[in-house]
Amino acid sequence: MRAVGNIARIVGLLLVLLSLGFLIMVGRWGLAHRLASVPPAPAETTPQATVTLEALLGEDYVELLTDTITMQMENRMNRNPHVDYYPVSEKAPLGEYVTIGADTPFEVDTQGYLVVCLPAGTVADSGHGEQRFRIARVAEPETPENTQESAQSWELILVNFENLLPENYAVELTQLGNEQAVDARIAGDLQRMLADARAEGLSPVVCSSYRTGELQQTLYSNKVARLLKQGYSQEDAQTEAARWVARPGTSEHQLGLAVDIVAESYPVLDAGQEDTPEQQWLMANSYRYGFVLRYPEGKSYITGIGYEPWHYRYVGIEAAEQMYRDDLCLEEYLTGL
Ligand SMILES: [Zn+2]
Repeated sequence: MRAVGNIARIVGLLLVLLSLGFLIMVGRWGLAHRLASVPPAPAETTPQATVTLEALLGEDYVELLTDTITMQMENRMNRNPHVDYYPVSEKAPLGEYVTIGADTPFEVDTQGYLVVCLPAGTVADSGHGEQRFRIARVAEPETPENTQESAQSWELILVNFENLLPENYAVELTQLGNEQAVDARIAGDLQRMLADARAEGLSPVVCSSYRTGELQQTLYSNKVARLLKQGYSQEDAQTEAARWVARPGTSEHQLGLAVDIVAESYPVLDAGQEDTPEQQWLMANSYRYGFVLRYPEGKSYITGIGYEPWHYRYVGIEAAEQMYRDDLCLEEYLTGL
Protein backbone atom coordinates (compact mmCIF):
# COMPACT_ATOMS: atom_id res chain seq x y z
CA MET A 1 0.00 0.00 0.00
CA ARG A 2 2.80 2.31 0.89
CA ALA A 3 4.44 1.77 -2.51
CA VAL A 4 1.15 2.52 -4.30
CA GLY A 5 0.77 5.66 -2.20
CA ASN A 6 4.28 6.73 -3.17
CA ILE A 7 3.61 6.10 -6.85
CA ALA A 8 0.37 8.07 -6.65
CA ARG A 9 2.26 10.90 -5.00
CA ILE A 10 4.98 10.83 -7.68
CA VAL A 11 2.40 10.72 -10.49
CA GLY A 12 0.54 13.61 -8.84
CA LEU A 13 3.75 15.60 -8.58
CA LEU A 14 4.58 14.90 -12.24
CA LEU A 15 1.11 16.08 -13.27
CA VAL A 16 1.54 19.27 -11.31
CA LEU A 17 4.97 19.89 -12.93
CA LEU A 18 3.60 19.16 -16.40
CA SER A 19 0.69 21.55 -16.02
CA LEU A 20 3.01 24.19 -14.60
CA GLY A 21 5.23 23.82 -17.67
CA PHE A 22 2.19 24.08 -19.90
CA LEU A 23 1.03 27.23 -18.13
CA ILE A 24 4.48 28.80 -18.49
CA MET A 25 4.56 27.97 -22.19
CA VAL A 26 1.11 29.44 -22.74
CA GLY A 27 2.12 32.48 -20.75
CA ARG A 28 5.24 32.97 -22.82
CA TRP A 29 3.37 32.51 -26.06
CA GLY A 30 0.81 35.05 -24.91
CA LEU A 31 3.52 37.49 -23.94
CA ALA A 32 5.40 37.03 -27.22
CA HIS A 33 2.14 37.44 -29.05
CA ARG A 34 1.35 40.63 -27.19
CA LEU A 35 4.89 41.95 -27.71
CA ALA A 36 4.69 41.25 -31.41
CA SER A 37 1.46 43.16 -31.75
CA VAL A 38 2.57 46.17 -29.71
CA PRO A 39 4.17 48.78 -31.97
CA PRO A 40 7.82 49.37 -31.01
CA ALA A 41 8.30 52.30 -28.69
CA PRO A 42 9.93 55.22 -30.45
CA ALA A 43 13.65 55.62 -29.72
CA GLU A 44 14.41 58.17 -27.03
CA THR A 45 15.97 60.55 -29.50
CA THR A 46 12.94 60.41 -31.80
CA PRO A 47 10.64 63.37 -31.39
CA GLN A 48 7.86 61.94 -33.60
CA ALA A 49 5.38 62.15 -30.77
CA THR A 50 5.38 65.92 -30.90
CA VAL A 51 7.16 66.86 -34.13
CA THR A 52 6.29 65.71 -37.62
CA LEU A 53 8.40 65.60 -40.75
CA GLU A 54 6.08 68.13 -42.31
CA ALA A 55 6.51 70.52 -39.40
CA LEU A 56 10.28 70.22 -39.65
CA LEU A 57 10.70 70.32 -43.42
CA GLY A 58 7.64 72.11 -44.78
CA GLU A 59 4.70 70.96 -46.86
CA ASP A 60 6.89 69.71 -49.75
CA TYR A 61 8.69 67.36 -47.40
CA VAL A 62 7.91 64.18 -49.37
CA GLU A 63 9.51 65.58 -52.50
CA LEU A 64 12.45 66.98 -50.54
CA LEU A 65 13.08 63.65 -48.79
CA THR A 66 12.71 61.65 -51.99
CA ASP A 67 15.14 63.86 -53.90
CA THR A 68 17.68 64.10 -51.10
CA ILE A 69 17.69 60.38 -50.30
CA THR A 70 17.90 59.42 -53.98
CA MET A 71 20.80 61.80 -54.50
CA GLN A 72 22.63 60.44 -51.47
CA MET A 73 22.12 56.87 -52.66
CA GLU A 74 23.57 57.84 -56.04
CA ASN A 75 26.54 59.48 -54.33
CA ARG A 76 27.14 56.45 -52.16
CA MET A 77 26.96 54.06 -55.09
CA ASN A 78 29.37 56.22 -57.09
CA ARG A 79 31.85 56.00 -54.26
CA ASN A 80 31.19 52.43 -53.38
CA PRO A 81 29.78 50.05 -55.94
CA HIS A 82 29.55 47.29 -53.28
CA VAL A 83 26.21 48.51 -51.99
CA ASP A 84 23.41 48.10 -54.41
CA TYR A 85 20.72 50.69 -53.73
CA TYR A 86 17.72 49.27 -55.54
CA PRO A 87 16.12 52.57 -56.64
CA VAL A 88 19.42 53.61 -58.25
CA SER A 89 20.43 50.31 -59.83
CA GLU A 90 16.88 49.56 -61.00
CA LYS A 91 16.35 53.19 -62.06
CA ALA A 92 13.03 53.09 -60.24
CA PRO A 93 11.48 55.71 -57.97
CA LEU A 94 12.31 55.50 -54.28
CA GLY A 95 8.57 55.26 -53.55
CA GLU A 96 8.46 51.80 -55.11
CA TYR A 97 10.65 50.45 -52.32
CA VAL A 98 9.66 52.43 -49.27
CA THR A 99 6.86 54.80 -48.42
CA ILE A 100 8.04 58.31 -47.79
CA GLY A 101 5.42 60.09 -45.75
CA ALA A 102 4.26 60.95 -42.29
CA ASP A 103 5.23 57.49 -40.96
CA THR A 104 8.79 57.49 -42.26
CA PRO A 105 11.05 56.84 -39.26
CA PHE A 106 13.44 59.65 -38.42
CA GLU A 107 15.37 61.18 -35.59
CA VAL A 108 17.20 64.41 -34.89
CA ASP A 109 20.85 63.75 -34.08
CA THR A 110 22.96 65.59 -31.53
CA GLN A 111 24.18 67.93 -34.24
CA GLY A 112 20.58 68.99 -34.91
CA TYR A 113 20.31 67.14 -38.23
CA LEU A 114 17.17 65.34 -39.22
CA VAL A 115 18.17 61.77 -40.08
CA VAL A 116 15.82 59.44 -41.94
CA CYS A 117 16.31 55.78 -40.95
CA LEU A 118 15.07 53.36 -43.61
CA PRO A 119 14.76 49.82 -42.24
CA ALA A 120 17.22 47.13 -43.34
CA GLY A 121 16.24 45.44 -46.56
CA THR A 122 14.00 48.19 -47.94
CA VAL A 123 16.35 50.10 -50.25
CA ALA A 124 19.47 47.91 -50.04
CA ASP A 125 20.38 44.37 -49.12
CA SER A 126 19.43 43.68 -45.50
CA GLY A 127 23.04 42.65 -44.79
CA HIS A 128 23.95 46.33 -44.96
CA GLY A 129 21.59 47.13 -42.11
CA GLU A 130 19.45 50.17 -41.55
CA GLN A 131 20.13 52.94 -44.06
CA ARG A 132 20.46 56.40 -42.57
CA PHE A 133 20.27 59.63 -44.54
CA ARG A 134 21.10 63.01 -43.09
CA ILE A 135 18.62 65.41 -44.61
CA ALA A 136 18.89 68.90 -43.20
CA ARG A 137 19.66 70.76 -40.02
CA VAL A 138 16.39 71.36 -38.21
CA ALA A 139 17.57 72.22 -34.71
CA GLU A 140 20.43 73.78 -32.85
CA PRO A 141 23.17 71.28 -31.98
CA GLU A 142 22.86 69.92 -28.45
CA THR A 143 26.39 71.04 -27.82
CA PRO A 144 27.82 74.04 -29.62
CA GLU A 145 29.73 72.84 -32.68
CA ASN A 146 32.99 74.34 -31.68
CA THR A 147 33.14 72.05 -28.65
CA GLN A 148 33.60 69.21 -31.13
CA GLU A 149 37.19 70.36 -31.22
CA SER A 150 37.46 70.57 -27.46
CA ALA A 151 40.23 68.78 -25.61
CA GLN A 152 37.96 65.74 -25.11
CA SER A 153 36.90 64.97 -28.63
CA TRP A 154 39.22 66.64 -31.11
CA GLU A 155 40.58 63.24 -32.10
CA LEU A 156 37.10 61.94 -32.95
CA ILE A 157 36.17 64.66 -35.42
CA LEU A 158 34.43 63.12 -38.42
CA VAL A 159 35.30 64.29 -41.91
CA ASN A 160 33.91 62.42 -44.87
CA PHE A 161 31.90 63.02 -48.01
CA GLU A 162 28.89 63.97 -45.93
CA ASN A 163 30.69 65.87 -43.18
CA LEU A 164 32.85 68.68 -44.44
CA LEU A 165 35.89 69.99 -42.64
CA PRO A 166 34.76 72.78 -40.31
CA GLU A 167 35.39 76.20 -41.79
CA ASN A 168 38.64 77.82 -40.66
CA TYR A 169 39.81 74.55 -39.08
CA ALA A 170 43.21 75.37 -37.65
CA VAL A 171 45.96 72.81 -37.05
CA GLU A 172 49.13 73.24 -35.07
CA LEU A 173 51.61 71.11 -36.96
CA THR A 174 54.67 69.12 -36.02
CA GLN A 175 57.12 68.38 -38.82
CA LEU A 176 58.09 64.72 -39.15
CA GLY A 177 61.38 65.35 -40.93
CA ASN A 178 60.69 63.98 -44.41
CA GLU A 179 58.59 66.93 -45.56
CA GLN A 180 55.64 65.41 -43.72
CA ALA A 181 53.69 67.05 -40.93
CA VAL A 182 50.86 66.06 -38.59
CA ASP A 183 48.74 67.64 -35.86
CA ALA A 184 51.21 68.24 -33.04
CA ARG A 185 48.96 66.32 -30.61
CA ILE A 186 49.44 63.00 -32.43
CA ALA A 187 53.13 63.29 -33.31
CA GLY A 188 54.28 61.52 -30.13
CA ASP A 189 52.06 58.46 -30.59
CA LEU A 190 52.90 58.28 -34.29
CA GLN A 191 56.66 58.42 -33.65
CA ARG A 192 56.30 55.76 -30.95
CA MET A 193 54.40 53.48 -33.33
CA LEU A 194 56.95 53.91 -36.13
CA ALA A 195 59.85 53.37 -33.72
CA ASP A 196 58.31 50.16 -32.36
CA ALA A 197 57.74 48.89 -35.91
CA ARG A 198 61.36 49.64 -36.79
CA ALA A 199 62.47 47.83 -33.66
CA GLU A 200 60.78 44.75 -35.16
CA GLY A 201 63.00 45.09 -38.22
CA LEU A 202 60.32 46.76 -40.37
CA SER A 203 60.62 49.85 -42.58
CA PRO A 204 57.39 51.85 -42.55
CA VAL A 205 57.43 55.13 -44.47
CA VAL A 206 54.94 57.96 -44.04
CA CYS A 207 54.29 59.00 -47.63
CA SER A 208 51.41 61.42 -47.06
CA SER A 209 50.16 63.33 -44.05
CA TYR A 210 48.78 66.82 -43.48
CA ARG A 211 47.47 68.47 -46.61
CA THR A 212 46.29 72.03 -47.05
CA GLY A 213 42.97 72.62 -48.77
CA GLU A 214 44.95 73.97 -51.74
CA LEU A 215 47.01 70.78 -52.04
CA GLN A 216 43.87 68.64 -51.79
CA GLN A 217 42.30 70.79 -54.52
CA THR A 218 45.38 70.31 -56.72
CA LEU A 219 45.39 66.52 -56.22
CA TYR A 220 41.69 66.34 -57.01
CA SER A 221 41.95 68.62 -60.06
CA ASN A 222 44.91 66.63 -61.39
CA LYS A 223 42.92 63.42 -61.08
CA VAL A 224 39.96 64.99 -62.89
CA ALA A 225 42.28 66.26 -65.65
CA ARG A 226 43.81 62.79 -66.12
CA LEU A 227 40.34 61.26 -66.42
CA LEU A 228 39.21 63.93 -68.91
CA LYS A 229 42.23 63.01 -71.05
CA GLN A 230 41.11 59.40 -70.92
CA GLY A 231 37.83 60.47 -72.48
CA TYR A 232 35.57 60.87 -69.44
CA SER A 233 32.90 63.58 -69.55
CA GLN A 234 33.38 66.44 -67.06
CA GLU A 235 30.66 65.10 -64.76
CA ASP A 236 31.86 61.48 -64.88
CA ALA A 237 35.47 62.56 -64.38
CA GLN A 238 34.53 64.46 -61.21
CA THR A 239 32.53 61.56 -59.82
CA GLU A 240 35.23 59.01 -60.62
CA ALA A 241 37.99 61.24 -59.26
CA ALA A 242 36.17 61.59 -55.92
CA ARG A 243 36.30 57.81 -55.47
CA TRP A 244 40.08 58.01 -55.34
CA VAL A 245 40.94 61.51 -54.19
CA ALA A 246 38.59 63.08 -51.68
CA ARG A 247 37.10 66.36 -52.78
CA PRO A 248 38.64 69.37 -51.01
CA GLY A 249 36.98 69.82 -47.62
CA THR A 250 36.19 66.11 -47.30
CA SER A 251 39.69 64.71 -46.75
CA GLU A 252 40.95 63.61 -43.35
CA HIS A 253 44.42 64.63 -44.46
CA GLN A 254 43.31 68.24 -44.04
CA LEU A 255 42.81 67.51 -40.34
CA GLY A 256 46.42 66.53 -39.80
CA LEU A 257 45.12 63.39 -38.05
CA ALA A 258 45.66 60.98 -40.96
CA VAL A 259 48.78 59.42 -42.41
CA ASP A 260 49.40 57.15 -45.35
CA ILE A 261 52.06 54.62 -44.41
CA VAL A 262 53.68 52.23 -46.88
CA ALA A 263 56.42 49.65 -46.75
CA GLU A 264 59.76 50.99 -47.97
CA SER A 265 60.07 47.91 -50.18
CA TYR A 266 56.59 48.42 -51.69
CA PRO A 267 55.83 52.15 -51.99
CA VAL A 268 52.61 51.59 -53.91
CA LEU A 269 49.11 52.62 -52.85
CA ASP A 270 47.20 49.55 -53.92
CA ALA A 271 45.67 46.46 -52.36
CA GLY A 272 49.04 44.67 -52.53
CA GLN A 273 50.16 46.92 -49.70
CA GLU A 274 48.24 44.73 -47.22
CA ASP A 275 50.59 41.80 -47.87
CA THR A 276 53.71 43.64 -46.73
CA PRO A 277 55.03 42.77 -43.25
CA GLU A 278 54.89 46.49 -42.40
CA GLN A 279 51.16 46.64 -43.09
CA GLN A 280 50.50 43.35 -41.33
CA TRP A 281 52.19 44.71 -38.23
CA LEU A 282 50.41 48.07 -38.43
CA MET A 283 46.99 46.48 -38.89
CA ALA A 284 47.55 44.30 -35.83
CA ASN A 285 49.15 46.93 -33.60
CA SER A 286 48.23 50.47 -34.63
CA TYR A 287 45.31 50.62 -32.19
CA ARG A 288 47.77 50.44 -29.30
CA TYR A 289 49.02 53.86 -30.40
CA GLY A 290 45.58 55.34 -31.08
CA PHE A 291 45.50 54.72 -34.84
CA VAL A 292 42.93 52.78 -36.85
CA LEU A 293 42.93 51.56 -40.41
CA ARG A 294 40.33 54.09 -41.46
CA TYR A 295 38.94 52.55 -44.66
CA PRO A 296 38.84 48.80 -44.05
CA GLU A 297 37.67 46.26 -46.54
CA GLY A 298 33.96 45.65 -46.25
CA LYS A 299 33.12 49.04 -44.73
CA SER A 300 33.18 51.08 -47.93
CA TYR A 301 29.41 51.24 -47.96
CA ILE A 302 29.65 53.27 -44.77
CA THR A 303 32.87 55.24 -45.26
CA GLY A 304 32.27 56.07 -48.92
CA ILE A 305 35.95 55.28 -49.62
CA GLY A 306 37.40 52.13 -51.16
CA TYR A 307 39.69 49.76 -49.26
CA GLU A 308 42.89 51.62 -48.36
CA PRO A 309 45.32 49.35 -46.49
CA TRP A 310 47.69 52.29 -45.87
CA HIS A 311 45.53 55.14 -44.53
CA TYR A 312 45.68 55.37 -40.73
CA ARG A 313 43.66 57.82 -38.72
CA TYR A 314 44.35 58.92 -35.18
CA VAL A 315 41.27 58.57 -32.94
CA GLY A 316 42.92 58.25 -29.52
CA ILE A 317 43.92 55.03 -27.80
CA GLU A 318 40.61 54.37 -26.02
CA ALA A 319 38.48 54.70 -29.16
CA ALA A 320 41.04 52.83 -31.28
CA GLU A 321 40.99 49.87 -28.90
CA GLN A 322 37.21 49.61 -29.00
CA MET A 323 37.03 50.05 -32.77
CA TYR A 324 39.70 47.38 -33.24
CA ARG A 325 38.07 44.98 -30.79
CA ASP A 326 34.52 45.41 -32.10
CA ASP A 327 35.48 45.80 -35.78
CA LEU A 328 33.92 49.24 -36.11
CA CYS A 329 34.81 52.01 -38.52
CA LEU A 330 34.73 55.59 -37.24
CA GLU A 331 31.23 56.27 -38.53
CA GLU A 332 29.90 53.18 -36.74
CA TYR A 333 31.78 54.00 -33.55
CA LEU A 334 30.44 57.55 -33.48
CA THR A 335 26.85 56.49 -34.15
CA GLY A 336 27.06 54.02 -31.28
CA LEU A 337 28.46 56.53 -28.79
ZN1 LIG B 1 45.22 58.78 -47.02
